[in-house]
Amino acid sequence: MYEDRRLRIVVVGSGYVGTTMAASFADLGHQVTAVDIDEDVVEALHAGDAPIHEPGLADLIERHAGGNLEASTAYDSLAGADLVYLAVQTPTDEAGNIDTTALETAARMSGEAIADQPPAERPVIVIKSTVTPPHVETIRAAAAAGAGDETLEVAMNPEFLREGSAVSDFREPDKLVFGTSSQRGDDMLTAAFEPIIEATNPVVIRTDPDTAAMIKYANNAFLAAKISLINDLGNICKEFGIDAYEVADAIGADDRIGEQFLRSGVGWGGSCFPKDVRAIIQAATAAGYRPAVLEAAVAVNAEQPARMLELLDEHVDVEDQRVAVLGLAFKPGTDDVRNSRAIPLIEGLQERGANVVAYDPVASEEMQARIPEIEYAKSAARALDGAVGALIVTAWDEFETLDDAFDAMDRQLVVDGRRVIEPRPGMTYEGLTW
Ligand code: NAD
Repeated sequence: MYEDRRLRIVVVGSGYVGTTMAASFADLGHQVTAVDIDEDVVEALHAGDAPIHEPGLADLIERHAGGNLEASTAYDSLAGADLVYLAVQTPTDEAGNIDTTALETAARMSGEAIADQPPAERPVIVIKSTVTPPHVETIRAAAAAGAGDETLEVAMNPEFLREGSAVSDFREPDKLVFGTSSQRGDDMLTAAFEPIIEATNPVVIRTDPDTAAMIKYANNAFLAAKISLINDLGNICKEFGIDAYEVADAIGADDRIGEQFLRSGVGWGGSCFPKDVRAIIQAATAAGYRPAVLEAAVAVNAEQPARMLELLDEHVDVEDQRVAVLGLAFKPGTDDVRNSRAIPLIEGLQERGANVVAYDPVASEEMQARIPEIEYAKSAARALDGAVGALIVTAWDEFETLDDAFDAMDRQLVVDGRRVIEPRPGMTYEGLTW
């Protein structure tokens, strides 16, 4: 059965995406090696530990480490592989342009590692990292130069998983996008995902690598713009004294709009939406087209934290006063604070001279590494104790049931950026868009 179609897969770059993919492919029965230049990551995998926090991942690694999941800092494991996935980071520079330096290095080193193999036996190289369409060629050229083979197949298989549910998203995708330039490339990707295709029947899109890369950006840009649009409408609702969530429930019933991503609030953050939207804006602009809607989506998103602070300012002067920030992760279920909305909110409070005390169930350490000078509380109740105001920034479930903890505030003033709590008697409650 499937055992016969077991592939040898190497995943280069073992971060949020690479580790999830390596452990999940191993769980599907493939023989997988995770290659990372970070020795700590490789050591963790050798020890059977997850190098990142992601529900379900530690179990998979514990089950397969040392068996069909191996880890290495060396590229020699690429020889003899069927597929080599490139899953290293693709950050943006100051201006928002995609920075493919790490990915180009990984592509070239991968090419070099398979240069001695006969061309027909070389693995198919697959770009998993998010890159703009023009950069697909940059990465292909780097891998081809490393291998000394212009015919090397370099495919694009973008990833749509969400942090916080990465393992289940990988296992049950809505869609798979195979951007290939040969039948062999398509056959390899199909074989890699065969168990998932058989079990969950996702939509499989077969296309060329550039289109595959564009699908990823279009997906993220659309979702980010949808959130910014509902936030824009939510801001209008707030001005008119209307509850944006009642409006959203109504428009979400229209199939053409759909009910998801209509929770207006303090906006999007994380490692993907901000960088991907900026990168596609920059790439489009460089190609001669300025995407006005996407620029507006970024602008609306940038304004939401300031609107939250203005609501606070309407009720209290926070200078030399204690203010609680509840939630530091960019969304619930992760310890990732990259581009978290909590960052501009904390900075805004600092500019006002407030004494900021922050709390998050899992992400305090990560935020402390970035913003060490504020106080970090061990619980939400402790953060609220003595505060003249509280900002709710991340929709963690535990914030829904804080109830009596608000009694310990000097002044029960709450500005809710995610519609997490119900206002209590005696509390001054401001919803950002309701
Ligand atoms: P990450 O920063 O968590 O991990 C990248 C890993 O690559 C690190 O462990 C790093 O040490 C390693 N690395 C760097 N250079 C290397 C090299 N030359 N050889 C071997 N290893 C190397 O990144 P991530 O969040 O997993 O994202 C990876 C890519 O996937 C990005 O392009 C990102 O845009 C895309 N993506 C991310 C998500 C997400 O939710 N995080 C979702 C979809 C797509």
